[in-house]
Amino acid sequence: MIEQPYSYQRRDPHEPDWRRFPGWTDVTTADWESAQWQRAHCVKNVRQLRELLGPGVSEAFFADLGRDQRERATMSMLVPPQMLNTMVSGQAPDDPGFTDALYADPVRRYMIPVFSDRRTDWPSHPYASRDSLHEAEMWAVEGLTHRYPTKVLAELLPTCPQYCGHCTRMDLVGNPTPTVVKHKFGTARDDRLSAMIGYLGATPGVRDVVVSGGDVANLPWPRLESFVSALLDVDSVRDIRLASKALMGLPQHWLSGEVRAGMERLAAKARERGASIAIHTHVNTAASVTPLVARAARAMLDTGIRDVRNQGVLLRGVNDSAAALLDLSFTLLDGAGIMPYYFYMCDMIPASEHWRLSVAEAQRLQHQIMGYLPGFATPRIVCDVPYVGKRWVHQVSRYDTERGISYWTKNYRTGVEAGDPLALDREYPYYDPIYTLPETGQTWWRDEAGAGPADSVPELAAKIPAAHS
Ligand code: SF4
Repeated sequence: MIEQPYSYQRRDPHEPDWRRFPGWTDVTTADWESAQWQRAHCVKNVRQLRELLGPGVSEAFFADLGRDQRERATMSMLVPPQMLNTMVSGQAPDDPGFTDALYADPVRRYMIPVFSDRRTDWPSHPYASRDSLHEAEMWAVEGLTHRYPTKVLAELLPTCPQYCGHCTRMDLVGNPTPTVVKHKFGTARDDRLSAMIGYLGATPGVRDVVVSGGDVANLPWPRLESFVSALLDVDSVRDIRLASKALMGLPQHWLSGEVRAGMERLAAKARERGASIAIHTHVNTAASVTPLVARAARAMLDTGIRDVRNQGVLLRGVNDSAAALLDLSFTLLDGAGIMPYYFYMCDMIPASEHWRLSVAEAQRLQHQIMGYLPGFATPRIVCDVPYVGKRWVHQVSRYDTERGISYWTKNYRTGVEAGDPLALDREYPYYDPIYTLPETGQTWWRDEAGAGPADSVPELAAKIPAAHS
């Protein structure tokens, strides 16, 4: 009998022993399960990571990390113990090979990027940009992106309990880094949130609100509850999705009594109104699904909300194989009751080339993961095309694989094209990482298009064939 390309094995969520790290040898289970303890012991810099891991880890690793923080990082470091503990789960820092395993670890690769992870030939695509999805251009009121006809994205706050190296909202979210000064909201939070509710009350065509940030777990619960409750008072709002990576990164927050009781009240109100609330989380690797994550997801389902879904990000060196995506999806579904939903291609932000995959690679992965999971739980791999929105990777309308330029069309106008009669006739480009192209394509970007391996080459826009035509 010939083996299948993927072999399913049920995996139960697993919590590695945190006491293997020298800095946590005395940490009790009660501390570990406390959201307050987790928030107070996040690792925020090289010094704290060195203290936690002890002398077993090579100094070269910390130097590599420090250089990345100074020269490349678009996000500052913020890693909750819960997430750190899922790195190199079978080994202690004193074990031989720990440093190599840390370099190779998928969670480390996106939460604690080091300089040597990044491309040196093309660290950024010439078209990479802050706010690469142009969300701020589409703000109907500050922080409320109205991109799709019936849906809006509400960015309530610019912070999270954890900062991911590849964050697509690197323009707005997190603390400044040596290379990135962050955009600041101009209006006070409560005024912004009131303006959002006012806009939705006056815009009955919107039925679906993604409540995001940042991460809603960083908003004091009473403020989040009053905002969601006000959304439920808007007659046209039928779907509310709360975006929180913290369901995985800080499940202790979602397990707290205050949050569970509040979610029960919101779920009951939603049911009365015939509306639904779901939590959308962001898990990229199977190792991240620990028993506490499973408990938090089930606690939220028990409150009566409709669903907990996962939107991961497809990242090279993290989850860029069919086996990694399927292992993650099955662990979410079997172990935690979380619905695999999307994998986004990593967006074209600065210094992200080493994480990004080409559209062709994403198409191959989508093909390879079909047929194993139930259809309703088979995640779609999507490309968030600037000025278009999410497209399934097979929806590309034209694809120049030599230059790595894919062209996409759309069937609605975004907030910035309300009066543009040609918006639906255009093709919108998306760009593969240049180093994945055949040599002729790389030469074109280097020579014919006049682009060196620089961070930004604006004059290139005029030379891309058929883009924005
Ligand atoms: S949790 Fe989401 S918003 Fe926060 S840093 Fe990570 S990707 Fe960005």
